Amino acid sequence: MATPGAVEVLVVGGGPAALAIATALAEEGVNIGVLSAASLSTPWTNTYGIWGEEVDALGLAHLLSHRWSHTVSYFGTGSDQAEAKANQPTNHGRDYGLFDKQKLQQHWLAQLKGANVSCWIDHANGISHGPQTSAVHRAGGGELKARLVIDATGHKPAFVKSTPQQKRPESPVAGQAAYGVVGRFSRPPIETDQFVFMDYRSHHLSDQQRQEPPSFLYAMHLGGDDYFVEETSLALAPALPFEVLKQRLEQRLMRRGSTLTDVIHEEYCLFPMNPALPDLHQRVVGFGGSAGMVHPASGYMVGSVLRRAPELAKTISDLLQKNSLAGEELAQQTWQALWPPDRRLKREFFRFGLNKLMGFDEQRLRHHFHTFFTLPDHDWYGFLTNTLTPAELTMAMVRLFALAPWDVRAGLLFPAQAAPGLPVPLPSVPLPCPINQQTNGRG
Ligand SMILES: Cc1cc2nc3c(=O)[nH]c(=O)nc-3n(C[C@H](O)[C@H](O)[C@H](O)COP(=O)(O)OP(=O)(O)OC[C@H]3O[C@@H](n4cnc5c(N)ncnc54)[C@H](O)[C@@H]3O)c2cc1C
Repeated sequence: MATPGAVEVLVVGGGPAALAIATALAEEGVNIGVLSAASLSTPWTNTYGIWGEEVDALGLAHLLSHRWSHTVSYFGTGSDQAEAKANQPTNHGRDYGLFDKQKLQQHWLAQLKGANVSCWIDHANGISHGPQTSAVHRAGGGELKARLVIDATGHKPAFVKSTPQQKRPESPVAGQAAYGVVGRFSRPPIETDQFVFMDYRSHHLSDQQRQEPPSFLYAMHLGGDDYFVEETSLALAPALPFEVLKQRLEQRLMRRGSTLTDVIHEEYCLFPMNPALPDLHQRVVGFGGSAGMVHPASGYMVGSVLRRAPELAKTISDLLQKNSLAGEELAQQTWQALWPPDRRLKREFFRFGLNKLMGFDEQRLRHHFHTFFTLPDHDWYGFLTNTLTPAELTMAMVRLFALAPWDVRAGLLFPAQAAPGLPVPLPSVPLPCPINQQTNGRG
């Protein structure tokens, strides 16, 4: 039972993570409040991509604006005859979708409205804790009390603290950076009705550029004459600058004989991929970007937020029934439910893998991904969406190692060799990550 004037759970934030957990808690009948810096119906700048099977399993396919069955990647150089086979597209044989971000937001808001949830628009700028409740201070004055506070304020959280581990040199925080354009082109930049997950061909680059940290094209045909093309760096510490990505995108388009004729939307994307987990003993619980829920090897998060919100809400609801539970204990048990040992283990595994990939040069990276997508469908899809058990993940990686060419095996086994232009060993500086950049949907 909540203290008079307090809610049981206060969710701070207004992005996908906040709305997902708030809706799931309301569904459990928990007395909640939401405190968001902006109105909950403020349009989101980020749009979100997701694999078809994930969204189907969640029963949310009706929230997609686009869906592609023709989904491909390219892992050849595009120029080398000897690599002719690798220049063929890798057909993923899986649907990919783009959320209609407005529909997704409205889907959650309608449920919150139906549940009569209290919402406040204000900046949370402080917090204090008593034995049973916490009080969140509002920038506009006053405070909101709750037995449990969930910080869902994204990659630069208001309250959730990272662990000291994050400062260790072997754990650099890498950024996924991308520059993209929604626009019209003199010639289609990709095939019609196609979704390109990763085009790592580098035939448009000079020899010197090919020595630099690699990037790939993520692209989709949005219908009619509209296309979205985005040059993306999977992860790098420090992140690849936008100017570099923009220049490479222009070169790539030029090589295809395609010129941008109309810019509908220009997008910038930057978020941390592999921060250490937050301290699981702190009094404020995180959810979403604040809780390290971005997949450290693929950058996806929305699918896992959607999957994990209901189970976490159920745990919180059960814990709240125990009136004797002090605030500290409530928070710790919630953190444990969000990050049980097997999930932490998998996350460390992904971080380790990403660290290896960040040391790969362009050719080795292409070889790696070419091999990765020859894995059984269940393995690569489960890896990217984090839906494998630890045992399945281990087996998938053993298979990857067995299938991989020698340069990839060596890269996985031995410390990265510094290649010209590659920042290896990686610096340990935390990534400065501006949130709410304009962006497009890919994790
Ligand atoms: C550009 C970009 C593209 C991405 N694309 C994808 C994708 O396609 N698929 C995918 O799965 N993942 C993607 N991600 C990764 C991840 O899903 C997103 O970062 C996602 O937006 C994180 O959601 P969130 O709710 O945790 O945080 P955010 O979306 O950042 O939301 C944070 C919210 O908290 C509010 N807030 C902040 N501070 C306060 C405060 N002090 N008080 C009150 N409210 C506050 C903000 O107003 C905002 O509403 C992308 C990330 C970025 C940056």
